[in-house]
Amino acid sequence: MSHIIKVLEPEVVSKIAAGEVVDRPASVVKELMENSIDAGAAFISVTIIEGGRQLIKVVDNGCGISRDDAPYVFQRHATSKISNDTDLASIKTFGFRGEALASILAVSKVGLKTRRKEDLVGTAIILEGGAESSIHDDGCPPGTNIEVSDLFFNTPARLKFLKSVDTEFGRIVEVFKAIALVHPQIHFKLIHGSGTVIDAPSGMMLDRIRDIFGVQFTTNVIAAFSDNIRGYVGNHRATSYPTSKSLFMYVNGRWVHDRGMMRAIIDAYGTLLERARYPFAVIDVTVPLEDVDVNIHPAKSEVRFKDQKYVYETVKDAVREALNSAIAAREDKAFVPPKKGPTATAGGSAGDINALYGDLFAKGKAETITSLESASPGSFIPRIAPAPKRDISKVSFSDLGICGQLWGEYLLCEIREYGGEFYIIDQHAAAERVAYEKLFKQYYSGDGIKVQSLLLAERFDATAEEAAVIREALDYLERLGFHVEPFGPSGRSGGETFLIKTVPDILGDRSNVELIKDLVAELGTFGGSSKVQDAVNSVLMRIACHSVIRGVRALTVEESRALLASLSTVDFAAYCPHGRPVVKMYSRAEIEAMFKRK
Ligand code: ADP
Ligand code: MG
Repeated sequence: MSHIIKVLEPEVVSKIAAGEVVDRPASVVKELMENSIDAGAAFISVTIIEGGRQLIKVVDNGCGISRDDAPYVFQRHATSKISNDTDLASIKTFGFRGEALASILAVSKVGLKTRRKEDLVGTAIILEGGAESSIHDDGCPPGTNIEVSDLFFNTPARLKFLKSVDTEFGRIVEVFKAIALVHPQIHFKLIHGSGTVIDAPSGMMLDRIRDIFGVQFTTNVIAAFSDNIRGYVGNHRATSYPTSKSLFMYVNGRWVHDRGMMRAIIDAYGTLLERARYPFAVIDVTVPLEDVDVNIHPAKSEVRFKDQKYVYETVKDAVREALNSAIAAREDKAFVPPKKGPTATAGGSAGDINALYGDLFAKGKAETITSLESASPGSFIPRIAPAPKRDISKVSFSDLGICGQLWGEYLLCEIREYGGEFYIIDQHAAAERVAYEKLFKQYYSGDGIKVQSLLLAERFDATAEEAAVIREALDYLERLGFHVEPFGPSGRSGGETFLIKTVPDILGDRSNVELIKDLVAELGTFGGSSKVQDAVNSVLMRIACHSVIRGVRALTVEESRALLASLSTVDFAAYCPHGRPVVKMYSRAEIEAMFKRK
């Protein structure tokens, strides 16, 4: 019988982007899953023991391997998927280099059982560190079963490089999800130790998203389909994330990291997305095989497009169209626009504002600012010679006169001294900034961040990946004011429950689970608590942001005064500005120039 697996000719090999493909358990999982998909499997199960260090087993019901071919699969550059240069120009399969199994075998002990449907009996091979030790008949079912054990047993340096079991398993889950999401027609199963973590039977892509992220999640997910795009994205109400981990991008079903596609998705959201936040998206773009080069990166996770602009436009258009139709169809009851005129007039009690802005503002009831006009009735500002525009850090905010409020979101102020100045203050950003300064000072003072104990600890169900990050960051979270304790496995398979027992005082009685999730995602990106120290400012900013509720809010004069007073405590000159601007100041000269008075 002729071999369908052949060793590539040296000149083909020389054109292959070579490099290390097996650097951690997750990369083994990726290669094995891709092989199973290439084999046409309808069912793929992945079993992991000890984060993949002890065992990675992938079982599929794909085409199997013949007895003649079986010994060859572990040879370097032995592949059934391409045979010459021409094939390299239009790669249909996930694999094509014939390197994965050879690289895996070089650093582990491998057992292979495989049978083609047409064969009466299957083949079993056991190999260790590159040497074949036995090959014999086996009564295995059709398909292929590969067991990789004792990963890196012969490369202590790489073994040392591995992170905790939880972290490595977290990475495996990430790979598994990414691959499973784009192949909803295949039944996938992920087992860790003795428990099934994910069981996703074959279905449509939305079923797959539900099976992986939960039913709740799908309520804010919308379809983005066009001629060449297939996918789902978070709608305008969906949670956004501090990292790009929830962006799953594919080209012809291949999971890729592509900056152009990421840009296209983010640009499609435009102002629906805050700066430095990322949406959830699963987007698979179909591109003619000859228009995309997948042979540029050892892990095949980056590609090069012939027409990058076309891909950008196609992705952006599809996502934008999806968002537009979702917005057109919305019944947004949450947003109540102000009734009429330039200011909102609904009275807000001091109790409410404290709920909104914590204890940043003074208590006390007072009349609501009514309108721009009535706040400074008939006042006439005499024209004075323009002075050079002042530096914002020199402004004493408590001295400003309040003109009114715009749309329940901006405070308008003036001062007649200094040649006349007009201020627009973003209430929300101001409150956030004040909270940040407070946290910053506390964090760096000897006493640390002031905390409050929660009467009822808040429960936080973490995924396996999140749990790994939290465990590594417990000390760090503690310093930030969050006392978090592990509370055993969660209802979600593979996950873990944590209890939040204390939170920074500034957070009031708001729910903190979302915040913790964001912090954990941020910590995950920084790769552990040591590097996170560098990012303390951005983390404090996030807590500050969470301490302030967004939205339209009519301020009383009293509350506005309190906001201005608290702004006076902000040292605008001290640190580099974070995020959005808080205050815009226009000198009288600027305003007059606007009206061509000068
Ligand atoms: P590549 O996928 O680049 O061809 P691999 O080293 O991953 O290289 O696999 C080598 C060969 O082994 C493949 O070309 C394929 O013929 C065979 N093979 C590997 N895994 C499977 C599987 N699960 N089912 C059937 N054949 C497989
Ligand atoms: Mg392969």
